[in-house]
Amino acid sequence: MRSLQATFYRNRWLFSRRIVQCLIIAAFAIELPAGGYFAQGNLSSSVWFGIGLTDPYIWLQSLFAGAPLGKAALIGVVIVAGFYLLLGGRIYCSWVCPINLVTDLSYWLRQKLNIKSNYTLSKNLRVAILVLSLLLSLLSGTLAWETINPITLFQRELMWGSVAGATVLASIFLFDIFVTRRGWCSHICPVGAFYSELGRVGRLRIKATQAGACHGCAECIKVCPEPHVLAPVVSKKAAYVTHGDCTRCGACLDQCSTGALAMSLSFKKPSAFKGIPVVSSD
Ligand code: SF4
Ligand code: SF4
Repeated sequence: MRSLQATFYRNRWLFSRRIVQCLIIAAFAIELPAGGYFAQGNLSSSVWFGIGLTDPYIWLQSLFAGAPLGKAALIGVVIVAGFYLLLGGRIYCSWVCPINLVTDLSYWLRQKLNIKSNYTLSKNLRVAILVLSLLLSLLSGTLAWETINPITLFQRELMWGSVAGATVLASIFLFDIFVTRRGWCSHICPVGAFYSELGRVGRLRIKATQAGACHGCAECIKVCPEPHVLAPVVSKKAAYVTHGDCTRCGACLDQCSTGALAMSLSFKKPSAFKGIPVVSSD
């Protein structure tokens, strides 16, 4: 029992994320005994207890495609964008997006099989795909990314067993194992790129708890899906992770054995503590 508790504690952020991710999938997929679902639609556009929520990136594409500005959709966009703006956009990636289940599994397998291949891809690639998707939406009058968006295909695959969905998911899975570490999410997905921009000012942040608690083992950097965001904190050049790429996954917190890191919501300007200046890690 004690070892079970210890295992849970060592992976508390991972377990918490998995529970939230699975509950969100279940809300769309499992029919209630009285009929209906907790949530209708999909992660791009959904209705929860009568409240419509719209993914801001989808909305932006529809704007470029020339769709009329619906008031209900606009309210849904403001709610979703406000939430991610407040907390940090890529919290969507590690707590909501179902593809994260696939890419985390790929990463785990890659580690287990000790696969070292790491084809170099620029992080700017996903920003270029983001811009291209908006341009294509403008030219084609359609939601360009939505036709191949694996997040939507995942839900289709789950509900209707779509062949296209299975093929895309398998491709991402294999790509992340054999081609590049964290290849899809860190280098290709425009949704992640969008939320990274949206999350730049997010107030839920990873912070160094106190000067001296970190002994520089860098174990947190090894497990971080976006290691560059932690580097300034570990090297004591910054007290907070401020980069928009941080997914707030908490992997660094599960990994750190000295309690040198914490995640906290703060609306105050970050204050420096002895020995560590506050500088942006962007
Ligand atoms: S980068 Fe894209 S696919 Fe990966 S978790 Fe984020 S939204 Fe999902
Ligand atoms: S800094 Fe921590 S919370 Fe942010 S992405 Fe890296 S491991 Fe996750």
